[in-house]
Amino acid sequence: MHFSPIKRKGTVVWIPDNEEVWQSAEITKNYKAGDRFLLVQLEDGTELSYPVDPAALPPLRNPDILVGENDLTALSYLHEPAVLHNLKIRFVESKLIYTYSGIILVAINPYKQLPIYGDAIIHAYSGQNMGDMDPHIFAVAEEAYKQMARNNKNQSIIVSGESGAGKTVSARYTMRYFATVSKSSSKAHVEDKVLASNPITEAVGNAKTTRNDNSSRFGKYTEISFDRSYQIIGANMRTYLLEKSRVVFQSENERNYHIFYQLCASAMQPEYAHLKLGSAEEFNYTRMGGSTVIEGVDDRANMVETQKTFALLGLKGDFQMDVFKMLAAILHLGNVEIAAVGDERSSISSEDKHLSIFCELLDLNCDKMARWLCHRKIVTTSETVIKPMTRAQAANARDALAKKIYSHLFDFIVERINQALQFPGKQHTFIGVLDIYGFETFDVNSFEQFCINYANEKLQQQFNLHVFKLEQEEYMKEDIPWTLIDFYDNQPVIDLIEAKMGILELLDEECLLPHGKDENWLQKLYNNFVNKNALFEKPRMSNTSFIIQHFADKVEYKCEGFLEKNRDTVHEVLVEILKESKFHLCANFFQDSPVSISPFSSTINIKSARPALKSPNKQLRTTVGSKVLHKPQIVKILNSYTPIDDFEKRVTPSFVRKVQGMLNNREDVPQLMLDTKHLFQVTFPFTPSPHALELIQVPSSFKLGFLTRV
Ligand code: ADP
Ligand code: MG
Repeated sequence: MHFSPIKRKGTVVWIPDNEEVWQSAEITKNYKAGDRFLLVQLEDGTELSYPVDPAALPPLRNPDILVGENDLTALSYLHEPAVLHNLKIRFVESKLIYTYSGIILVAINPYKQLPIYGDAIIHAYSGQNMGDMDPHIFAVAEEAYKQMARNNKNQSIIVSGESGAGKTVSARYTMRYFATVSKSSSKAHVEDKVLASNPITEAVGNAKTTRNDNSSRFGKYTEISFDRSYQIIGANMRTYLLEKSRVVFQSENERNYHIFYQLCASAMQPEYAHLKLGSAEEFNYTRMGGSTVIEGVDDRANMVETQKTFALLGLKGDFQMDVFKMLAAILHLGNVEIAAVGDERSSISSEDKHLSIFCELLDLNCDKMARWLCHRKIVTTSETVIKPMTRAQAANARDALAKKIYSHLFDFIVERINQALQFPGKQHTFIGVLDIYGFETFDVNSFEQFCINYANEKLQQQFNLHVFKLEQEEYMKEDIPWTLIDFYDNQPVIDLIEAKMGILELLDEECLLPHGKDENWLQKLYNNFVNKNALFEKPRMSNTSFIIQHFADKVEYKCEGFLEKNRDTVHEVLVEILKESKFHLCANFFQDSPVSISPFSSTINIKSARPALKSPNKQLRTTVGSKVLHKPQIVKILNSYTPIDDFEKRVTPSFVRKVQGMLNNREDVPQLMLDTKHLFQVTFPFTPSPHALELIQVPSSFKLGFLTRV
């Protein structure tokens, strides 16, 4: 930060305070270079001798006349206390939750409904310039809409902030804005359908955490398509990093995904009798957090809403029942009792009620299921060995299966919503809205928080780049008076995580070792980083955790489960059993290359890109090479993204031939992977790779490549 070295009597500065974060203090005696103390008087009259570091004197307070500005860039001094003070004054004194910082809108969550989101307000913002109106989320939406229409350019709105900050609500408001201002007279209810995608993804992807009753446990990027007259003609969404572990584990005072509770609350209805469900209290996967209800939330009423929304999207009764069957099956699977047989073995009773309901719902062979939940097949070059599993290993296998089924189901629902949001007509432009999980720190933080916080570091970097670096350059170019500030550069923490021999690479390496262990990996982290990297610490009292100094806070992560979650594998034989299911949807989930359903994580499939993904700007496309790629190259790229165990299974000769065939048939310059004619969905559970992920999956212009981990 830039602090003026001049500290005269009468100057007002900010000094850190444990309670208030920053306190205003007036200097009462001229400060001379070398003085170790600054004599100040606080606002309540207290005199203080404040110890200072001559290299970092306290930040200066802005004159009151500037405070309350609706754009932070109007402040003479722009540093943390200035920003916080300005936001506080606006919020506390005038109930204003929105403030600009250049082109960025800063929002404070009011935690109560304000009368500023009605249709009349939308119309008031429509067609206006951003600077002419009070800062508002609608003004940002209007700006994107206007820029799109004026310059025929696609736009994106990125919503960022820590968990509970109000991202999902803001993203919903932008979408409502577009739906309202571009309302067509069409009877297809395109706008309503686009909006309907929100409650559905929230039912299956949101859950109560200790920070937010409706916390999004996945990232979502929605592209809203417009035609030549700038009316909505559809949408397409892509999701990231669903927190799968929540399906089988919830911390104290947290819940599983809302949909499970909605279903349980409706269990008594005759149409659900065959699911053999009961209250959420009866299932391990829904009762673990201690409380199955959320104050002010009626799960049963929400179930009716979920069904209505599905129906609005054309996803009718049969589809819904298939989904509910899958969900019920997961709950029963979680109640399957695994008994220890000595120290080495485990078993499941052939009478286990829940196992038989699970198998009945998914049409699976129950004996095989019981056996293979407790045994593992190990194939070596010379023989195949069947090894019993301990009770803990079997419980792990059961949970891994539950997570896999849920994540397939989630992807399937997203895919079907996407299909429902494709309408006839050519996309002319789009506006993308990114609502990503926010920075998180809980009492116990695991692999999921690590991934989420890593993603947030990357977003923060984008934010820094835009807010500080680019704006600063702009101001300097135009000779606008501007106090240069040192923006927080979080590259070092990103390097700690993703650089060569960084945390992720060491994790991926450990996963490849036959006897890899969480503890061994952690030991390597200690060896490599303790006392060598200032952003990494070993907690004094623990040998099972590590601390990272993120841009937002210090977070202590527990190493337990990192390897398993990074590997993310379900035993082969179990997959085979599910593949044989006569329940079409279930069997389809576990096919190597599902025919009509995509995109599944952990499978590769090839499909034609929808027109919605077409980018009018050719330069935005990512090119891997200008000539046809041959098998070794394709294999090399894919290899680096695929866990060793699964590689043979996924990258089959026929897959490679298909890729080559498609590339050979191209008339224009071939572009592997991202390509508007053929989109290769390649989602991998982990990335031990020197290649930039965006080359494979997402247009680099979206800068989202880093999100594909898990
Ligand atoms: P995030 O997605 O950032 O984790 P949410 O958008 O889910 O957070 O917001 C958390 C809660 O805060 C919401 O459920 C809502 O109750 C409240 N909230 C957020 N934004 C607003 C707003 N603009 N006005 C009123 N309440 C809000
Ligand atoms: Mg959210």
